[in-house]
Amino acid sequence: MLYAPTTIRYSMTSLISSGEFGLIRRIRNRQPSGGDGVIAGIGDDAAAVLPTPGTALLYTTDTFVEGLDFDLDFSTWPQIGFKSMAANASDIAAMGGTPRYALVTLCLPSRRTPEEVDLLYEGMHRFNETCGASVHIIGGDLSATDGPTVLSITLIGEADPARIVFRSGALPGDALCVTGDIGGSEAGLRLLLRRRKNPAFAIPDASAETLEKHRTPRPRLREANLLAASGNVHAMIDISDGLSSDALHLAENSHTGLCIEADTLPVRTATRVAAEALGIPIVDLALNSGEEFELLCAVAPDAVSDLAAELMAETGVLLTRIGFFTTKDLGCLLRTPGETRPLVASGYEHFAFHPSPKSRS
Ligand SMILES: [Mg+2]
Repeated sequence: MLYAPTTIRYSMTSLISSGEFGLIRRIRNRQPSGGDGVIAGIGDDAAAVLPTPGTALLYTTDTFVEGLDFDLDFSTWPQIGFKSMAANASDIAAMGGTPRYALVTLCLPSRRTPEEVDLLYEGMHRFNETCGASVHIIGGDLSATDGPTVLSITLIGEADPARIVFRSGALPGDALCVTGDIGGSEAGLRLLLRRRKNPAFAIPDASAETLEKHRTPRPRLREANLLAASGNVHAMIDISDGLSSDALHLAENSHTGLCIEADTLPVRTATRVAAEALGIPIVDLALNSGEEFELLCAVAPDAVSDLAAELMAETGVLLTRIGFFTTKDLGCLLRTPGETRPLVASGYEHFAFHPSPKSRS
């Protein structure tokens, strides 16, 4: 057993013709050169960067495991690279920061090829172009594995220390607002799962946008900066687990209660079409869809309409008031036209730790 890792590493070397050092060189050579503040990037013992003077550094990390967090039946390598960078960037944005530098670690089984690694990085670079970001990959690690492919990204961001937005600042009376629209990511995944289970199932053309939201979500980078800079956003989180559970995180961290008004949830037509095809109630989809990467925030109630107008004018993205914060003793509630009931963290991701997408249908 002592030599097992070495055996695996040599096995990868023989199967990945360029070998580990060759692969690192290959990754480095395909990198856009330079980068603001980069003193040393890939290829030295450690990366060195010069932070923008006066900024606080934000750190986040996220790991993606083949078969659990991504599925090669549903997404291409560029899409997987794009989404993994998007998920991390969304966490930096949710603090009011700007993503700057990334460390990328890959554990590769011997069946993977250098071309697949190229495509994965291509997706990470495409994220920058598509989302107006400038994340520089400054290092990482490579290892062989006899398990599934694992991709882990550590992302470093910068923020004005006076403008960092935490989960903990919501006040009773604040409006609960969300950017964009919700429900599409889970709808897209469920359409793909349904078709795999039943190849005769036809994905409606009118729901195609949900597939895109599942495969290549766009985190709200510019929107987050505008919201944070306004001074009227008291708490913020990105929707990665699901609206219901992420709203509960805001309330818990802020020691407040809240009420979500179900008939105000912004859902686009493509998501409604998907929900109908799948036979899932649209409110359930909107409340429980994970990996939305929309921003959920507590806004000073008098500032909502001006902030929504500013966001629309600057970015074309909606900011919708979907409820309000209350005192903690009132609890967390969901109000539908027919009834008011406790808000439950029933995101699809919460039934088990690392549920396999394959177990969902
Ligand atoms: Mg988050």
